[in-house]
Amino acid sequence: MSKPTIVLLPGDGIGPEVTTAALRVLDAAGFDAEWVSVPAGATALEQGYDNVLPSVTTDAIKQHKIALKGPVTTPVGKGFKSVNVQLRQKLGLYAAVRPVRSLNGVKTRYENVDMVIVRENTEGLYTGIENEIVPGVVTSLKVATRDACMRISRYAFAYAQTRHRKKVTVFHKANIMKLTDGLFLDCARQVYEEEHPDCTYEEVIIDAGCMKLVQDPTKLDVLLMENLYGDLVSDLCAGLVGGLGVVPGSNIGKDYAVFEAVHGSAPDIAGKQIANPLAVIMSSVMMLNHIGQETIAEKIKDAYNVVLAEQKPETLTRDLGGSATTDGFADAVIRRLR
Ligand code: ATP
Repeated sequence: MSKPTIVLLPGDGIGPEVTTAALRVLDAAGFDAEWVSVPAGATALEQGYDNVLPSVTTDAIKQHKIALKGPVTTPVGKGFKSVNVQLRQKLGLYAAVRPVRSLNGVKTRYENVDMVIVRENTEGLYTGIENEIVPGVVTSLKVATRDACMRISRYAFAYAQTRHRKKVTVFHKANIMKLTDGLFLDCARQVYEEEHPDCTYEEVIIDAGCMKLVQDPTKLDVLLMENLYGDLVSDLCAGLVGGLGVVPGSNIGKDYAVFEAVHGSAPDIAGKQIANPLAVIMSSVMMLNHIGQETIAEKIKDAYNVVLAEQKPETLTRDLGGSATTDGFADAVIRRLR
């Protein structure tokens, strides 16, 4: 097999630390790739670009199709549209897929959590269409299109079917947003009835859904929702299994895929070597599976599972109750590679 070329966005804040750690693990596991490093976010501005998402970055992803991305910071209040939103919209990365699983050795209130959030990534309230009607009165436009709602619904049901998952639950607020969430719900229902009638399908109003999640998350399986709900529920679900340090993600489109952790750039802990690189390592595993490198993916997964299960404070990062540095955790995973 020829050597794959992967675009790397190290990102801002803890991004360079956690992506460096992930790359070391990938390398030690025998993943031989050409890496093309490109800037985004505050780093792009520091490097002299006039935009937080320079065309050199989007062009590289368009050319090589696959990217591993660290979290980025979009400077607030300087007129820049969020890097993540731009990237997802410009590259048509319409599905955010975020597996949320209990990990052996990571103690939380819940056991046997195994869910996948499928979040619509391109519209909803993230279109950024905001207006000042008169001074003191502003609006933000929530957009839903039939095409995007059908596309994400089809993705979620197809995902459930190929991964042998039992149920798709839509979180919505169609009782209030009758047109936008109503359309989302119509599309999900149509895909279920016409294309996946054998799957179990459920519709839950999002506030009740959040209550169900914290009462017993093991009752939920694939969660399908629009953009903003997906953002909020992802962090909530991360909290059920050990926090943002342990939840990976992918952004999938027709032509390209960008793999990144759910967490942000965490400026509060940046540069201190205390961030947990596991979420990015797990995102790399998703990437390896996506490009057909299942053997190396499995090897890395087995290694971090062993490190977690051992529960040694000296090999776990602070968020998991340990004292290891970012690199220290990566070293522990590397030692456990078989
Ligand atoms: P964004 O809006 O960009 O998604 P956020 O507001 O959700 O960002 P994060 O940057 O994800 O915030 O960080 C939230 C908190 O979680 C931070 O205080 C940080 O300390 C913690 N955190 C995030 N990622 C990690 C990590 N990899 N390891 C340890 N702690 C983390």
